[in-house]
Amino acid sequence: MTRAVKISENVYQVGGPGLTDAADCMVYLVKGSPSVLIDAGAGASAREILEAVKDAGCHPDSLRYLFLTHCHIDHVGGAHFFREACPDLRLVAHRGDLEALVTADPVKTAANWYGVTLPPLEIDMVIEDESFSLEVAPYPLTLIHAPGHTPGSCVAVMDQKESRVLFGQDIHGPFMEAFDSDILQWKESMERLLSLEADILCEGHYGVFKGKEAVRSFIRQQLSAQGF
Ligand SMILES: [Zn+2]
Repeated sequence: MTRAVKISENVYQVGGPGLTDAADCMVYLVKGSPSVLIDAGAGASAREILEAVKDAGCHPDSLRYLFLTHCHIDHVGGAHFFREACPDLRLVAHRGDLEALVTADPVKTAANWYGVTLPPLEIDMVIEDESFSLEVAPYPLTLIHAPGHTPGSCVAVMDQKESRVLFGQDIHGPFMEAFDSDILQWKESMERLLSLEADILCEGHYGVFKGKEAVRSFIRQQLSAQGF
């Protein structure tokens, strides 16, 4: 049985290296009404991620949204599994990464790096704007376009009673021509994230940072690593 790791009030880690599979990004669950899964892992361990979702006390029927933060395989590979396992699930992604997802582009999704084939994905809700609100109780989730790593990269922000949680998958990069990365756009995105002054950062590969100063310094380190 894969265990969920509680991060704060209604946020759990349900996938990632050490928990499910080394190929997975860190997968987060926002338990609410309805519940939201943030990314889906690379695919091979999707069943274990679902076990962890249940361990967090979340019934698969209450999972309504799978927010795909961007098109890379370690974040979207499990999406097919969850669509089948959760009857009401809707896949959410930004317009900027839509083509890579619906055509299952092996380069743009990085599936070729992982030596796997990603079947084409149908996206139910396409984010067209700079920000978009997912109606979740008790705390709505605001999805914010934060391009740079890929054209359609997004983050999510949730204001809990006492802390602001930022889900920033792969805000560290990498930046590659093959991904259509844009380092100047990314710099602007990171400045926007700094201005959010989040209390908790749930990152895609580097883990969870708690405290405004820890969040700020992680983002600043990434900026300085890129020469900004
Ligand atoms: Zn990525």
